[in-house]
Amino acid sequence: MPGDRGQLEFGDDERSIALKRAWERAMLFLSNKVSRLTFESYIRAIRPLSYKEHEVRLGVPSPFAREWLEKRHASAIRGILESILGASLEVRYVVVASDSVPGWMDDAGADAASCPPAPRKRQPSRPHPDDVPSLPLNEDYTFDTFVVGRSNRLAFTAAQAVSERLGSMYNPLFVYGGSGLGKTHLLHAIGHAVRARDPEALISLVDGESFTHHFVTSLREKKAADFRRHYRSVDIWLVDDIQFIASREGTKEEFFHTFNALYQTGRQIVIASDRSPRELRAMDERLRSRFECGLIADIAPPELETREAILRQRCSKEESAVPDDVIRYIAGAIQSNVRTMEGAITRLVAYSSIMRSPISVEMAHDVLGEFFLDVPIPIRGRKGVQSETVVRTVAECFHLTADDLRGPRRDKHIAEARQIAMYLCRELSDMPYGQIGELLGGRDHTTVQRGIGRVESRLLEDGALRATVQELRGRLER
Ligand code: ADP
Ligand code: MG
Repeated sequence: MPGDRGQLEFGDDERSIALKRAWERAMLFLSNKVSRLTFESYIRAIRPLSYKEHEVRLGVPSPFAREWLEKRHASAIRGILESILGASLEVRYVVVASDSVPGWMDDAGADAASCPPAPRKRQPSRPHPDDVPSLPLNEDYTFDTFVVGRSNRLAFTAAQAVSERLGSMYNPLFVYGGSGLGKTHLLHAIGHAVRARDPEALISLVDGESFTHHFVTSLREKKAADFRRHYRSVDIWLVDDIQFIASREGTKEEFFHTFNALYQTGRQIVIASDRSPRELRAMDERLRSRFECGLIADIAPPELETREAILRQRCSKEESAVPDDVIRYIAGAIQSNVRTMEGAITRLVAYSSIMRSPISVEMAHDVLGEFFLDVPIPIRGRKGVQSETVVRTVAECFHLTADDLRGPRRDKHIAEARQIAMYLCRELSDMPYGQIGELLGGRDHTTVQRGIGRVESRLLEDGALRATVQELRGRLER
């Protein structure tokens, strides 16, 4: 019952769901921030209980754990939750008997009422790994070759966590994002990591098309029983481009049963899609809500720094040298798709080799010009963006003045615009926090850091904000 000591107060109310999701994210950040021992001994056992007014209550298993967390990690935990939830918070630790709180993390990230617990079981008659239906894993798509930035950190960290703890961390993990942003790469990387840990693991990686094709063929050849036995025996099921399944009735039904069979026996499922579960309208509502029981991680278009890092990594494999200014030029011009950036490099390298002339910005401009570039010729690099211009442009966009952003007022929409200005100053010039604070009316280092953190976590969830920031960035980088 809500309010009773030790009882989980998750109802259907949005704040509880927000807290649950925020806590999943906070766990990811904390797993990188504290030692493994602390994480496993203290953090993992925390259960989010309630979020009311400005108070978040977290359940811990013992007075000792409470003391330890309050002494050692309270400010890190509060800071992370504040930046994810975008509000200042009081965090209280409440000792609760472990059997009175459903272990939602262990239950595949699910609230026990809506999603059944899923103990992981291996079947007695396991097929050979080679008999498991799967597309081959692409050798180039590993965690090592994946460049991590703000836009993809959540998905990357979740993918790693899942590959280390099959079925018990986030199940299912649902990754979504636009085309060419690394979803397929991450799915393959999970497959490699699982195989490296356990060569006997039964890994199935399919995409919407191959699953459909396989299913239809099995019906035609009257091998539906084998089809089911093979799919339902896997330890991890990686399903890419699920949107292709969503539009086909028979396959959708089969997918549903396979999903349930695996989910109920605690096998790990990872799904990638070009849209969020809510937007997969052709999917059964029951299945969509199952997807939402796990962790949903979106991948946004990479920020400039990450685009440059991806290009640098890509160019290091080429024989011809690609100068840094060319990398900056391409990263500045192609903003929304990594695949297109890679295509640009391939084309440029081929051209330079045929013409026997070295790669330069002029060559990139001539060869790629109309063909590839989202934005025409932003040859000015990141250092060229004036921070004063950032402040003015952001103010204009929010119908404010630069003085509003520099001034003391803390009304919500002014504070948010100010934080966006901080974020863009940081993204587009290499200014340190303190200097950004100076520029924005003498705010201190921590305020700036926190403000940027808030924008970053809002960007993960808020498509409209992403579009605004993208648009501002486009204007400023031009
Ligand atoms: P999606 O499945 O989202 O359409 P892919 O995973 O096929 O995108 O990625 C397209 C290309 O971009 C691949 O060659 C992939 O290796 C590369 N790529 C995407 N994101 C990254 C990244 N963060 N680091 C390195 N390479 C990336
Ligand atoms: Mg893909």
